[in-house]
Amino acid sequence: MGLRTPICNVCLRSGILCQGCENKLKEGRISELDIKISRTLFEIAQKRRGLEKINFKHAISTSGLIVLMVGKGEIRFAVGVGGKVVRELENQLQTKIRLIEEGAQTRKLAQDILTPAKVLGVNVLYSEGKEEHRVRVPRPHLKRLPANVKGIQALLTKLTNKNITVVFE
Ligand SMILES: [Zn+2]
Repeated sequence: MGLRTPICNVCLRSGILCQGCENKLKEGRISELDIKISRTLFEIAQKRRGLEKINFKHAISTSGLIVLMVGKGEIRFAVGVGGKVVRELENQLQTKIRLIEEGAQTRKLAQDILTPAKVLGVNVLYSEGKEEHRVRVPRPHLKRLPANVKGIQALLTKLTNKNITVVFE
């Protein structure tokens, strides 16, 4: 099994899009960012081991940060030995990269994205019939966040379909 991405193997190798993948793009099932990341992963996979084991699902981004979703248990392959794969990705894309796993709970998702800032916990509050999920981070870790708070909140909200705020304490 080789690297799996939102575009097919033919498109990964050819550098152009087949009709099937073109349709996926037009219908919004995949994004230009997904395609760009797929091609970059494919390129890196030619020289580094580990990526042939991953199933890259999709990517979302905010200013200065791209989050890649991979299959369950696959983060370590995408990070690579000593972080080499993810560092190469960051160099090529000129942005910070964080990896998350499909199906992860909110707390793990938040921790994987906010790293190296620490997530103390996620509290659920109810007000006026609405749920608010508060990701709690120690105040001194504010400067360790990989992107601005607003951007991170937007990413987490999109990924979980929950109303998420990051709070510092
Ligand atoms: Zn294709």
